[in-house]
Amino acid sequence: MDIILLGPPGAGKGTQAKRLESARGMTQLSTGDMLRAARKADSPIGAQVRDVMDRGELVSDAIVSALIGEHLEDAANGAIFDGYPRTQHQAEALEMLLAERGRTLSHVIELVVDEDALVRRIVGRFTCGECGQMYHEDFHPPKKEGVCDKCGSTEFKRRPDDNEETVRKRMEEYRAKTAPILPFYEERGLVRQVDGMGSVEDVAASIDAILDS
Ligand code: AMP
Repeated sequence: MDIILLGPPGAGKGTQAKRLESARGMTQLSTGDMLRAARKADSPIGAQVRDVMDRGELVSDAIVSALIGEHLEDAANGAIFDGYPRTQHQAEALEMLLAERGRTLSHVIELVVDEDALVRRIVGRFTCGECGQMYHEDFHPPKKEGVCDKCGSTEFKRRPDDNEETVRKRMEEYRAKTAPILPFYEERGLVRQVDGMGSVEDVAASIDAILDS
């Protein structure tokens, strides 16, 4: 089963994708993660996308669709597309990439959220520099301040694009370029809405109900 999680930055796509990976053996395909890995590795693509990402703008369709094409085979048990597609062009590219492999989308799950609450959610988030455990200053701080609950590391990191100005720009990009692809999937009867403002568990239960329906 291949699904898309659609929603603005901070809607909880990554959290839900990771949960689905461990619960169902599916594979998260996050273009944001792939691009951050390219930056970390100092690859030519990393250098090409650095400034665009730091401004909160979208990188080119060709780059992200090529990345998805390279990683689709990793998701033999089902892909969770997280942060892709983000434009009409990408939606069309994904349809081709899947069709070429005899695959089709089962669901497009739209996480519906309140934008101002999201800004708070994003600006407060950070992860363990060692094991990647996710935290939030207000909603989910480590039990002991400055120490990772999971691995005991004292190194934490924040995404450089998780500041208010860039987040607002990322929201704008979502509204202008990504939300308009919903009708493409609505026409195909694939879109299901989930209230993304509930607890992680409630959102997970709503997604499970859709996948099991
Ligand atoms: P994300 O982790 O999904 O919030 O992505 C972080 C940043 O990576 C975005 O603000 C964009 O600059 C870039 N990015 C990630 N996925 C895409 C995509 N599908 N299309 C264009 N840019 C993307």
